[in-house]
Amino acid sequence: MQNSSSADVVIVGGGVAGCAVAYYLTTMGARPVVVEREQVAGAASGFAQGGLYTMSGAGMDGPFLPLVRESLRLHRELYPVLTDATGLDSRLAEKDILTVSLEHDDLATLRALRAQQEANGFTVDYLDDRQVRELEPGIGPGVLGGMLTRHTWLLDSDTLTKSLMLAAESNGAELRIAGVTGLRWDGGRVTGVELADGDSIACANVVLAMGPWSAFLREWLGVDIPVLPIKGEILRIRTNTMPAMAHLGWQHSYMVKKPDGLLWTGTTEDEAGFDRDPSASAAERIMQGASRVFPAITEGVVELHTACLRPVSPDNAPILGAVPGMQGVYIATGAGRKGILAAPALGKATADLVTTGATDLPIAPLGLDRFL
Ligand SMILES: Cc1cc2nc3c(=O)[nH]c(=O)nc-3n(C[C@H](O)[C@H](O)[C@H](O)COP(=O)(O)OP(=O)(O)OC[C@H]3O[C@@H](n4cnc5c(N)ncnc54)[C@H](O)[C@@H]3O)c2cc1C
Repeated sequence: MQNSSSADVVIVGGGVAGCAVAYYLTTMGARPVVVEREQVAGAASGFAQGGLYTMSGAGMDGPFLPLVRESLRLHRELYPVLTDATGLDSRLAEKDILTVSLEHDDLATLRALRAQQEANGFTVDYLDDRQVRELEPGIGPGVLGGMLTRHTWLLDSDTLTKSLMLAAESNGAELRIAGVTGLRWDGGRVTGVELADGDSIACANVVLAMGPWSAFLREWLGVDIPVLPIKGEILRIRTNTMPAMAHLGWQHSYMVKKPDGLLWTGTTEDEAGFDRDPSASAAERIMQGASRVFPAITEGVVELHTACLRPVSPDNAPILGAVPGMQGVYIATGAGRKGILAAPALGKATADLVTTGATDLPIAPLGLDRFL
């Protein structure tokens, strides 16, 4: 098929944010082109843990929370539609999470977490060490207590991202594998994107969904997009000794039984620039924590070690909407540790703005103007 030289909308970035924007645009009658320089879901969107946790975590104590609540509703609405349309099953499922404390300090953190979770409308049970052991017989001897959170959700982020793109393509979107090197302008209005292969695509609207690489947008826009790459690593372990619980959490880490039959454990949060190489030191840190929580994990074999970059903004909330002073330019990035959870809302809100200039989704506090 021949590449288009013009489009209604060009979306830069084939991560979950860009693919969600593309999908929703096609449901509104637009025919976008997604330009991705590596492959769809080739960055963080293809390697995230896939937890849809509105109950707590970075950014869940501010104006991001109403948006992710809407996003979880959209995830549940999308799941059967995308599965039917593409045959790809992202395995969206409801799970309980057992969060345990390893240190006396963790107990205070757990109490604060419980208060936050209850404030967010979750059902939470506080458990002493005996009750924790009943639920999870393989738990480590040093575990002091825990908390059970009900009604949280999990999916496979790689499949979600690919199914969004595939569904968008069957509705008329186009995927182009190329790097975007800059924008074309007529005064303050965007007129197209320039590609690394020397080609260009004319368009009246551009959505910038470049994940952590949004940090380079200063060169294109002349304004800072305050997004920092925070590296996170996960070990996928093949083992015959699985925990009883589908999801164990502790401090900033987790162990999750995934539908691929592997036990995923992580994670790390490192400032390492744009380095995406898995590191031995991260693997060691992950296993140190995991083996205190569930000692039998050391009997397993690491089948895959992944590393990727979260796009994190200074207030842990996404940067969304029209870029002030630049006609036809929109941004959808910075969802940080919640980018999979937030993707449907990011996608729908951006598509609403591009096609009608307004959205019902609560994105007003999340514009780039808050940092300018
Ligand atoms: C270890 C780890 C675990 C995580 N777990 C969870 C979780 O459980 N739940 C959750 O909600 N979130 C989680 N996240 C966060 C989530 O993965 C990210 O927030 C999300 O994937 C970001 O999506 P994105 O589309 O904005 O960026 P990305 O997935 O990084 O995609 C951006 C894309 O833009 C492309 N691109 C950049 N510049 C250009 C250019 N100039 N031209 C063309 N293409 C370009 C890149 O190649 C890339 O494919 C996790 C992240 C990590 C690292």
